[in-house]
Amino acid sequence: MNEATRAAGTATASLPRVHNFIGGQFVEGGGTTFENRFPASDAVVSLVSEASADDVDRAVTAARKALSGPWGRMSVPDRVALLRRLVDGITARFDEFLAAEIRDTGKPASLASHIDIPRGAANFAVFADQITTIGTETFEMPTPDGAGALNYALRMPRGVIGVVCPWNLPLLLMTWKVAPALACGNAVVVKPSEETPSTATLLGEVMNEVGIPEGVYNVVHGFGPGSAGEFLTTHPGVDAITFTGETVTGEAIMAAASKGVRPVSLELGGKNPALVFDDADLEKTIEGLGRSCFANTGQVCLGTERVYVQRGIFDRVAEALAEKARGYAFGDPFAQTTTMGPTISAEHQRKVLSYYEKAKAEGATVLAGGGAPTVEGYEKGYWVEPTVWTGLPETSPVVTDEIFGPCAHLTPFDTEEEGIALANNSPYGLATSIWTQDLSRAHRAAKQVEAGITWVNCWFLRDLRTAFGGSKASGIGREGGVHSLEFYTELRNVCVKL
Ligand code: NAD
Repeated sequence: MNEATRAAGTATASLPRVHNFIGGQFVEGGGTTFENRFPASDAVVSLVSEASADDVDRAVTAARKALSGPWGRMSVPDRVALLRRLVDGITARFDEFLAAEIRDTGKPASLASHIDIPRGAANFAVFADQITTIGTETFEMPTPDGAGALNYALRMPRGVIGVVCPWNLPLLLMTWKVAPALACGNAVVVKPSEETPSTATLLGEVMNEVGIPEGVYNVVHGFGPGSAGEFLTTHPGVDAITFTGETVTGEAIMAAASKGVRPVSLELGGKNPALVFDDADLEKTIEGLGRSCFANTGQVCLGTERVYVQRGIFDRVAEALAEKARGYAFGDPFAQTTTMGPTISAEHQRKVLSYYEKAKAEGATVLAGGGAPTVEGYEKGYWVEPTVWTGLPETSPVVTDEIFGPCAHLTPFDTEEEGIALANNSPYGLATSIWTQDLSRAHRAAKQVEAGITWVNCWFLRDLRTAFGGSKASGIGREGGVHSLEFYTELRNVCVKL
């Protein structure tokens, strides 16, 4: 939470307002008004209306009411038709979503126009497909009188889903949860990150445009503790909670969900390793590895911050990755030539730079970056340089902590066993990438690395039907494809004596 953004100055009174979306209406919240800043320039771009506990209660009540209205009675084909209209609705307003996402995050248009907005829309199509093909189970059973019985399961929506989102891929990660939740017939109350309130709010307009009944989709704005995040996750009217964000926040949300024994799905942090073996195709490896370290200014949960390289190619890989790090272009996020945006906030910039200082203090060799660049015309932006280090021990906080910046530390290894052991030496287990041309080794290593998602010779290649989630402290549960539908529904067994 950024306390500094809570108080809005009077000079900003004419700025656009970002409102809560409750029961199909845009409403002023009863909390404070806080500033939303453009990370590339530090300019205030809008004022956001914080939801009070009463507002959150109204949103949960609106969601509950929607479940007993037309939405609750709607057939799957009719729901699917509405989901497809949402895809068209977002696509029709693509440029507005793109501009809103860029203003909130500072991410380059070249990235957001290829990933954030198209995937944000596509999630609705994916889960519209999934819900039309998923079945349930039936079991015939014998009975003493010989007549038998038939069991079958009904797939029921869970009810009101609390959706708490991070700031790094705002629309994409939000619809990743909202789309399957709606496909399954639930109603949602979304709490976007305080850093990125705009696209969730804009989606409210599209919901109304395409005819999603009021109360099915609600948005409440604010922070975590003592604000909308806590009000939502502790609200007894919320039947299940889905959360993406930091592991410590996940722990707090899991504790909140234990009251009332409510299911949670937690997609949490990581300190993801890459394993580069000496038979890897170096050109392709550096291209993919570079993206995994630096894309979205390193603010990707699946990104790489620990790189383990087999000793024979260590120097070549280190130098090539450093060269890649030096090749990014800072600048106006709206310009197609810009390839590296700022970090999300002054607070996050300070956090990332504190690790850059720590690395130097601990004697790291800095092969690229290591500081904050001055970007002409955007001097007040929250920039950090893509950074590559070597030489730190595995116990250094730079090597153990999730920094969530465009940076990676490289460590050499000799044997396959040693490389895998180093990769697994972390409380986290979200994603791994393995770079090798030896197929047997790739399969062997993929089975041994402790990660929910392992890529071989690629990174961020996502088939949305696959299971997505973290091992160890990186999360609980799996979303994606039918796994999402399992979380957003509850199977109820019916036993019929014949
Ligand atoms: P965060 O945990 O600080 O905040 C996420 C959301 O939780 C925000 O909306 C925030 O307001 C809310 N929140 C904070 N404290 C809360 C509380 N006590 N109760 C209820 N809500 C609360 O995370 P962030 O900084 O927005 O996002 C970055 C983190 O997210 C990184 O750790 C990253 O790895 C992780 N992440 C994970 C995945 C994944 O799929 N595993 C994807 C993206 C991001």
